[in-house]
Amino acid sequence: TDPLAAIRDLFELPEGLIYLDANSVGPMPKSVRARASALLDDWVRLRQLGWSERAWQQMPSLLGDAIAPFIGAGKGDVVFADSTTLNQFKAVSHALAINRGRSVMLTQNSNFPTDVHVLQGLVEHSRGQLSLRFVDNEDAAVAAFDDSIAVAAFSHVDYRSGARWDMARVTAAAHAAGALTVWDLCHSAGAVPVDVEGANADFAIGCGNKYLCGGPGSPAFIYARKGLADRAFPAIAGWMGHADVLAFTRDYVPHQGVKRFITGTPLVGADELAGGMLDIWPQIEPRTLWAKHKSLTDFLIGALRQQCGPLGVEVISPDDYDRRGGNVTFRAPGANAIVEALIAQGVIASFRNPDAIRFGVSPLVIRHQDCLEAVVRLRRVLES
Ligand SMILES: *Cc1c(COP(=O)(O)O)cnc(C)c1O
Repeated sequence: TDPLAAIRDLFELPEGLIYLDANSVGPMPKSVRARASALLDDWVRLRQLGWSERAWQQMPSLLGDAIAPFIGAGKGDVVFADSTTLNQFKAVSHALAINRGRSVMLTQNSNFPTDVHVLQGLVEHSRGQLSLRFVDNEDAAVAAFDDSIAVAAFSHVDYRSGARWDMARVTAAAHAAGALTVWDLCHSAGAVPVDVEGANADFAIGCGNKYLCGGPGSPAFIYARKGLADRAFPAIAGWMGHADVLAFTRDYVPHQGVKRFITGTPLVGADELAGGMLDIWPQIEPRTLWAKHKSLTDFLIGALRQQCGPLGVEVISPDDYDRRGGNVTFRAPGANAIVEALIAQGVIASFRNPDAIRFGVSPLVIRHQDCLEAVVRLRRVLES
């Protein structure tokens, strides 16, 4: 039996559709309609009622606490604010400020473009002080650390291949050389086991809109290891990250901990759509979620090989679950056209250049029967 069957009922899902694009936008919790509607009602009433009763100022922390167990973080160490891109900037800038004497940043060649672009922007604006180095794989990363590296910013899971890095191993190598780490959890948070505290990760960031189901335009999250945020002034010092928001002092005094990464007014509308997360995540035991994801993706990979292997499908997601991310990726000739045909068959997947197809598996709503049915429909497409 499915331990998350009751959770599936908390989502509004289109009839007959097999949704395997949770790595892009997670499905919508039913409670979001009422949340959005209540916000609009408060807006209509303007200031007479509503704003002071509304938890808009607390939402960054409420959302952060709701997902913290799914990344192995403690209460109060995660907030939702801004986009992943901005959080990458804040986290990397913070690491650079802490590690002042060093000038090199390290990242993956295959990292998600925006993560790399942020680092390139920092180099451009550094008056010649900073440089960027790339590595191809995890072993190369572990070997690359030396005393010039201030910060390593890596994706935990490769957005194309779905391959997961060993966060503890890489972080240990970074720390042994005196470097700090920033981990992008976009393709692991809410799907596969993440343990930022166990791995001793310094900073972590990630999307709200993907497996976490924060909806379109969801704010992103940022985590800092206990004590670390306090060691530097934030690069974007905004009034909402001030120690005393409503004191309106001229000079900035940073809030204790990760709250200093809240910049300006929370994105109240986006936070309310993302508020569906508050109705879902606290009801789930992380280990239950992760076990279901493993079971689903093991099953999916097996079915893909058996049913579609002879038709040219090659699974590129790792067999070793400890190396697998949220999505299952496979190669197929004519992948782009296959994804189009799958969508016409009611299976929503995504395509990545040049020949990769991604099935983003959300354990909140996907069942084993959905995986099987998706593979059956894929086979039909390949045969036609
Ligand atoms: C989706 C994704 C992002 C998106 O960044 P935004 O600034 O929130 O648009 C960043 N990094 C990775 C690895 C992603 O998969």
